[in-house]
Amino acid sequence: MGFLLVVLNGRVIVILGGTAEGRRLAAALPDAMVSLAGRTERPALSDRTRRGGFGGAEGLASFLRQSQVTAVLDATHPFAGQMHHNAAAACAETGTPLLRVERPSWAAHPDAEGWSWVAGHEEAAGEAATTCGPVFLTVGRQHTLDYVGQLAHRAVVARLVEAPAGALPPSWRLLTARGPFSLDGERALFREHRFGCLVTKDSGGPHTDAKLTAAAEAGATVVMIRRPQAPPGVATVGSVDAALEWVAHLPTPT
Ligand code: NAP
Repeated sequence: MGFLLVVLNGRVIVILGGTAEGRRLAAALPDAMVSLAGRTERPALSDRTRRGGFGGAEGLASFLRQSQVTAVLDATHPFAGQMHHNAAAACAETGTPLLRVERPSWAAHPDAEGWSWVAGHEEAAGEAATTCGPVFLTVGRQHTLDYVGQLAHRAVVARLVEAPAGALPPSWRLLTARGPFSLDGERALFREHRFGCLVTKDSGGPHTDAKLTAAAEAGATVVMIRRPQAPPGVATVGSVDAALEWVAHLPTPT
């Protein structure tokens, strides 16, 4: 996979990334390795990036042993359910310190009680199908096409970092963009398209939350997909600064 293994002060830190937090950690820890799943064709890369899976928890455990990794920062997305479990299992098996960096959920957002909370994409598509007006779909590249069945004849604007693998219905429009998104920009988008419904995942954090305010102001229904369950017992922080603090206190191997 061709990436550089850097050992500084005897420490080898791996960032499991693919998120804004992963990019910020990589910028603050220039000696750390960054691991990406390789889903995005043109990701924002640092020069110490590794792309592609490890081969499950066992593959990750072998990698941690072979590379003599001192600590792992799991900064993968709150919806990257498998990787959290793999990291927890591999780090437990190898005795590698693990910190989960997870942006706070939007469950505490002032408007959260008024949203329609659902367990998954099928339920979200069903809820969206009951609403009126154009739908603003921001559920990520991997799941956008799951909505075609139930929203095939609706006006839908799907906003993604990259286009999905399959064709979209004629009544759908694709917007490719990477956050963060400003409140003024989101307001303008809601005005332009007159969205009646926003479908999104509880990604949390401030990078993409302006659409929630714009939806409330426009009186649009918000369909919010709950986060998958995180593995129990993993030390977790809600910010990059707290993660850097944790790294600063890691013992230096003898
Ligand atoms: P997932 O379901 O948790 O992971 C599926 C498999 O992809 C994992 O078993 C692992 O393969 C590989 N993988 C995932 N993250 C990796 C990483 N950082 N480095 C190396 N391999 C990784 O994750 P996903 O939902 O497919 O998401 C893939 C990536 O996109 C994640 O890194 C995540 O941070 C990012 N992302 C996801 C979302 C989302 O909504 N799911 C949104 C934004 C960004 P092996 O088992 O072979 O190791």
